[in-house]
Amino acid sequence: MKQYSRRSFGKLTVGVGMSVVVGLTELQLLRPSHAAVAIPAIGGTATWGAAAPKEPIKRLAQKPIGIVVHHTTSPNSNDFTQTKARQVARSIQQSHFNRGWIDTGQHFTISRGGWILEGRHQSLAAVQQGTTHVQGAHVDGHNETHIGIECDGLYMEHAPSLPLWNNLVALLAYLCHQYGLTAQTIVGHRDLDATLCPGDTFYSLLPQLRAAVETHLAGGNVGRMWPTLKRNTPATSLAKTAQYLLRTHGASITADGAFGPATEAAVKAFQTAKGLTVNGIIGAATWESLIRTVRLGDSGDAVRAVQTRLAAQGYTTTSDGQFTATLNALVKTFQTNRQLSVDGVVGINSWNHLAM
Ligand SMILES: [Zn+2]
Repeated sequence: MKQYSRRSFGKLTVGVGMSVVVGLTELQLLRPSHAAVAIPAIGGTATWGAAAPKEPIKRLAQKPIGIVVHHTTSPNSNDFTQTKARQVARSIQQSHFNRGWIDTGQHFTISRGGWILEGRHQSLAAVQQGTTHVQGAHVDGHNETHIGIECDGLYMEHAPSLPLWNNLVALLAYLCHQYGLTAQTIVGHRDLDATLCPGDTFYSLLPQLRAAVETHLAGGNVGRMWPTLKRNTPATSLAKTAQYLLRTHGASITADGAFGPATEAAVKAFQTAKGLTVNGIIGAATWESLIRTVRLGDSGDAVRAVQTRLAAQGYTTTSDGQFTATLNALVKTFQTNRQLSVDGVVGINSWNHLAM
């Protein structure tokens, strides 16, 4: 949706869901502005046992003008349960009380498992209303104008987990819908303040996040999220995984995690062979062609690729390229944690969760 200046409302050439300012009265035209945006499940403060705020919450009679994405910098937990999400919400509130704040600073929290919880009291009611904003405490100088979302985890090197990402897209689309915001109003904390938040990797994914929210708002199919890898991204275990996979497709490259000219050339050769867009960038389509289904008894670089990702996700394993019974059990643990079918076979769903 485009940003309209007040002037463009002159002849009422407004889009569905736009607001018209007549004198000092704002008339809300037909909502919803974005045809059918699903309302994500959001647990209110009562669901996680929030303590009462120390002082009355300030509810401002204005809409927010943007949304800020944060990371909590807590260790990336493999506990994806709702119980864990509620525990995280309580511990954040306590730590914010300890800072002398009246309540949780951010409006919403998303756990590693993708559970969305209300942070500061009344945030959910304000969003449902669509015309008011709860003053938060999450970004200096912008608390009266911006919604804050804390994503549990540390995303300097790693991308957010797949459930976190998917539900963040749903939450952002809902917030944009309720307040008539465009996806372009979604920023990272570092855009507004001197901080590393929400982490280098997460920050690099914000263009993809905005694009996914736009697609969601337009009623399109967002598709599977895969992280983008391209030349000169810092050496990472994810690039190493991609190199192992490229090797299984015949590339003669070293799996060292550094995405240099040789890896780029290998990606282009692979894309040419598969009839994909040849750009040397590993995005969703290339990932989905690159991955190999691996199972008990398999060996080689495809197994090393799986082991590399499991290790990056905090699971203890070697990179010996042997899909042993031990590895099989580990894959099942991973699948259980991610609420996937627990069959010990690494297919596209497990790969998708391993990549993020
Ligand atoms: Zn932050």
